[in-house]
Amino acid sequence: ERDSLDTIWMNGEFVDWDDANVHVLSHGLHYGTGIFEGVRAYDTQEGTAIFRWEDHLDRFFQSAKPYDMEIPFSREELTEATLETVRRNDLKSCYIRPIAYYGYKSLGVSPGDCPTDVTIAAWPWGAYLGEDALKNGIDVMVSSWRKHASSQIPTNAKTTGLYVNSLLAGEEARRNGYQEAIVLNKEGNVAEGPGENIFMVNDGEIYTPGLSESILDGITRDAVITLAEERGYEVHDNVSISRGQLNTADELFFTGSAAEVTPIKQVDNVTIGEGTRGPVTEDLQQAFFDLVERETDAHDDWFTYL
Ligand code: PMP
Repeated sequence: ERDSLDTIWMNGEFVDWDDANVHVLSHGLHYGTGIFEGVRAYDTQEGTAIFRWEDHLDRFFQSAKPYDMEIPFSREELTEATLETVRRNDLKSCYIRPIAYYGYKSLGVSPGDCPTDVTIAAWPWGAYLGEDALKNGIDVMVSSWRKHASSQIPTNAKTTGLYVNSLLAGEEARRNGYQEAIVLNKEGNVAEGPGENIFMVNDGEIYTPGLSESILDGITRDAVITLAEERGYEVHDNVSISRGQLNTADELFFTGSAAEVTPIKQVDNVTIGEGTRGPVTEDLQQAFFDLVERETDAHDDWFTYL
């Protein structure tokens, strides 16, 4: 809930937070036909900076493709709208949510002549799973829900409808006293979290499921792979990870724009490693936060400054 003075960009105009409404017969509401992004801007030494905005924009446009959705704004217009949204709301660090969805016109499953509505909102959002999670790690449960296979629905598109599966998995975990879920793919291998990619560390080497495991091609995943390789780690980013390997891993952690780099300390009540944030996880987490807070000048091209 935000202040009514806050403003949201909707289809080219800024509207008050409380007036940013949609018609109840919007196509996207009925059929999950929206595509969206979750992006963070950090309060850095150089001012507010959006992390990997261009990559989020790329994925935004890619996500629209399987649904034949034409985004009626250019990259430049969306960038300017986003920067202006952050500025007008006086945000130093924030979460940014661009979304495009089939709007209100007709309610056949075929979107027909429904417009594509586009909105960008931004608000302050601290550590997704809590500050303690970043430091001490979380307890996760392997969900009894499998992830939809990429042969059933494009898992590389960040589509609103997909998150029904994320909700089922995450809420099942929380009902059972865990903080988050791990979701297996249709083959029974480890896919990802409800809103996170997953990494495993064994003997100092790093493993993460490949893109053919029905995962989202995470931008934080990519950043962490790059940072790890720069630090001399061997990274295997195209593997299958079986469920049993979770239990025997030296370290596990999640990555995501919201979750950042979150250690996992237990899976199904089995302690991972020492049951604390492992040394490789800590090293990469430090590298990640040094990067996004611009404590280093590396990868400056990953940042869009306000
Ligand atoms: N997997 C899923 C299902 C997600 O929703 C997210 C969050 N966008 C991720 C992985 C992580 O992706 P990113 O690092 O680009 O936020």
